[in-house]
Amino acid sequence: MGWLNDTPHSGRVGRVTGRRGERRPTEPRGYAAPPGTGPAGETCGACRHILRGRRYRKCELARALWTHGPGTDIRARAPACRRWEA
Ligand code: SF4
Repeated sequence: MGWLNDTPHSGRVGRVTGRRGERRPTEPRGYAAPPGTGPAGETCGACRHILRGRRYRKCELARALWTHGPGTDIRARAPACRRWEA
């Protein structure tokens, strides 16, 4: 389908890019509440609600929001949210 690449806008239409032509990495935002609103010194990694045993980290309390993508991941090192439990 070479004719597709001969159009005047080929390579331009539909690009979602940053300044250098690269897409920024998706920030994990799958937290049950804002990180840092929980007990001082605790992290998601020490919380009972973190989903373990997978390549990615998710918060069980945010399960209804999961999208199968990195936008609903969490970071184990994120400071605990107010729903943190040991
Ligand atoms: S601290 Fe616990 S409840 Fe809060 S986002 Fe992290 S894993 Fe979920």
